[in-house]
Parts: sequence; structure tokens; C-alpha cells
Amino acid sequence: MKSPSQTNAIDFDSAKLQRLGFGQQPPLPERPVSLAQLRQQLSLQLQTSLEPQRILGLFFREVQKLVPLDALVYQHTSSDLRLEFGQRGHHTISYSLSHQGEHLGELVFRRNQRFSDQEQGNLESSLSSLLFPMRNALLYRVATQSALRDPLTGTGNRIAMDQTLEREIEMSRRHMQPLSLLMLDIDHFKLINDTHGHGAGDDVLKAVAASIKSQLRNVDMVFRFGGEEFLILLSNTSREAAAMIGERLRFAAQAEGYTADGNMIELTVSLGCSTLLPGESVESLLRRADSALYVAKREGRNRIAMAG
Ligand code: GH3
Ligand code: MG
Ligand code: MG
Repeated sequence: MKSPSQTNAIDFDSAKLQRLGFGQQPPLPERPVSLAQLRQQLSLQLQTSLEPQRILGLFFREVQKLVPLDALVYQHTSSDLRLEFGQRGHHTISYSLSHQGEHLGELVFRRNQRFSDQEQGNLESSLSSLLFPMRNALLYRVATQSALRDPLTGTGNRIAMDQTLEREIEMSRRHMQPLSLLMLDIDHFKLINDTHGHGAGDDVLKAVAASIKSQLRNVDMVFRFGGEEFLILLSNTSREAAAMIGERLRFAAQAEGYTADGNMIELTVSLGCSTLLPGESVESLLRRADSALYVAKREGRNRIAMAG
């Protein structure tokens, strides 16, 4: 008789995983695949991650073997999650994902060319492969969120920041893509606390965090760095592009309507920007953004300074 408490260990090494199609970023095949092949590939690949960013990134890449796209935008408001892949296109198709009454987010596909009925059908059939991976990822996110988020602003905390920085630096090196950092600090924040009270200061902090997130493609890249300081990680973003995004954040933070006891509060922010150098450490990248921020403050605030 077989022992009832038999344990089987299955150890997959990376070579095996590669052969099974779980490898990193295989090149796109030359010929388009059939819907059945695509769905099979998707069901294999999407279950390899619990990260919404990775799952949707894989989906965006794989689905294009059948339906070329310009962009994919995903939003799940209650999880404070918004992710964008690709560039914008004129034509859009939107879907609301749900499973047994549970809302799993909104997906928007964008393209410059119109979608044919067949393409739309293929997209819809492919979407079913996303349901379980996304549901698991969202559950996992809820479970880990409290450990990785700043409770006041909902941005990532220092633990999340350290993990993400490390991962993004590695990705930047591996894919030879630029990585930029913005360090943002509210100007004269102490004065807001002193004038309107700490509670009003907290509300302002929340509003500034919301304003930053509303301007970014991936809200998971915003971290509370200190009391009234935020760090924004910009993957695949050059120094020039980061400067533009920084200006946009500065403008948005200033344009936001802040009130305390019914009175309007004027507010500005200063930013420092650094872009990863070859072989540079996390500490050095952060230090250069911080020094640039110091320059922005010294030169009069409400501005962005670029690290040399
Ligand atoms: P600067 O333009 O040079 O940045 O001036 P500042 O007043 O913003 O800078 P300073 O570092 O002197 O003051 C930051 C203030 O932020 C002091 C601290 O009490 C306040 N602060 C830090 N964390 C919180 C928080 O969670 N809530 C509130 N309401 N205030 C906070
Ligand atoms: Mg500060
Ligand atoms: Mg400040």
C-alpha cells in the first residue's frame, strides 16, 4: 500500500522554466499565433506572477501576437492602481473586468487603427485569461499593502521604496534603459502646520500625494520619503523626459485647490532630479537627487533642479 503522507518535491530550474515558456522576455514570433495558441500561452505565463505590473505587461506583449495595439491602460480605483503600457492611440475599446460580482478593474485598449470585429472578438476571448491572475494579484496586493504603504498618503513606504529601487536599477541595467528619480519636497510646509494646524497639514499631504499620482502612468512608483517629501521613480525615462515630468508635477501641485477651514492655501513644491549613471549605487542616485533638491530650495523654491 502507498503511504498516505507522501511528499513530492518538484524542483524546476531556470533552464526547464525557459523551455516551458516561462523565461524572461522571449522575442515576438514572426508569424501571428492562433487564438487557441495565444490563450494557452497566456494561461501559462500569467500565472507566473502576483504583480499586476508584470501580469499586464506580459498580457500586453502576448496579446499583440494576435491583435496589434498601441497602448493598454489598466485602472482599479479601490486598490489605488493605475498602469499604462505603450503609447496613446486614437481608437479605444474599454472593458470592465469582473468575476462573480467582484470588480477586477477597467482595461482600455488603444490603437491608431480601428479595431475590426474579429480583433475585438479575439481581445474579448483573451481577456478571460486575465481574470484569475488579476484576482490573485489584487488579493495579494490587499494582503501586502498595509506592510508596504504609508497609511496617511497611500504612497509606498520606505520598505517598498528600497525594494522597488533595487529592482528598477537592475532592470535599467539589464535592458539598458535610463532610470530617473524625482525628489519632491513641499515648500514652507512647516508654515502650513503652524498656521492651520497639524490636521490641515495632513490633509495637504494627502492632496499633494493624490496630485502626484494623478500625473503618473504607474502610481506604484510614488513613495513617501520623509515627512513632507516624496520620491518618484521614473523607469525608462531619460533626464530630459524626467525634467518635463517634474515640471508637470510642480505645476499640478500648485494648481491643486487646497483648503483649511474654508480658506484657500497657496502651495508650491520643489524638486530635485537625478538619472542613473553607469555603475552607480542606490545611495549615490538618491544623494544626487537630494543635492539637486537642495539647489532648487536655495535658488528660490517652486522649481526643479537637475543633478549634474
Ligand atoms: P522648505 O521649503 O525648506 O522645505 O521648508 P519646510 O517648512 O517645508 O521644511 P521643514 O523641514 O522645516 O519642515 C517640514 C515640516 O513637515 C516639519 C514637520 O512638522 C512637518 N511634518 C512632517 N511630517 C508630517 C506629517 O505627517 N503631518 C504633518 N501635518 N506635518 C508633518
Ligand atoms: Mg523636507
Ligand atoms: Mg519642505
